[in-house]
Amino acid sequence: MDFTEYQKNTKETAIYPNNMEGGFYYPALGLAGEVGELLNKIKKIARDKKTPDIEDLKGEIGDVLWYLSQLSNEFGIDLGQAADENIKKLKSRKERGVISGSGDNR
Ligand SMILES: [Mg+2]
Repeated sequence: MDFTEYQKNTKETAIYPNNMEGGFYYPALGLAGEVGELLNKIKKIARDKKTPDIEDLKGEIGDVLWYLSQLSNEFGIDLGQAADENIKKLKSRKERGVISGSGDNR
């Protein structure tokens, strides 16, 4: 499934309260929460020197992706287009030898 198609699917499964001003608050806060869940699992892998449970991590990455997709929907951003533009930017940086530098506009 490509990102644009995925984004259409997340919109169909998005059920959240509209009692917060601006529809973007809920997915923005949800994204932060799911990133936290993912990082907490990674923390425990490191702390306990455990073998990563790939299915568990995949589930959390999917949760992160869902909220990222919905956040993009709330701002009218096509996730597939954002992904394409991001890769083009990074390939350009690599070709120009500035991929390891810093600054948004390299
Ligand atoms: Mg989760």
